[in-house]
Amino acid sequence: MARFRCRACGKEDSFVYDGRHTCPNCGSAAVQFALGVEEIPDDHPLIEAMRRLAEEGNEKNED
Ligand SMILES: [Zn+2]
Repeated sequence: MARFRCRACGKEDSFVYDGRHTCPNCGSAAVQFALGVEEIPDDHPLIEAMRRLAEEGNEKNED
């Protein structure tokens, strides 16, 4: 189980991670995931993907 917060639709909720990197509610990529790090191996691709999404989000949306 993980949590997400979407910048596009404002939805914040928990969901079952299924490999997508988009909002479970609206499908936007402007979503932040909050997975428990202890649930994920350090070398999991999702770690890198979340880091990249966070950096892109910070560059594109400064609010
Ligand atoms: Zn959304």
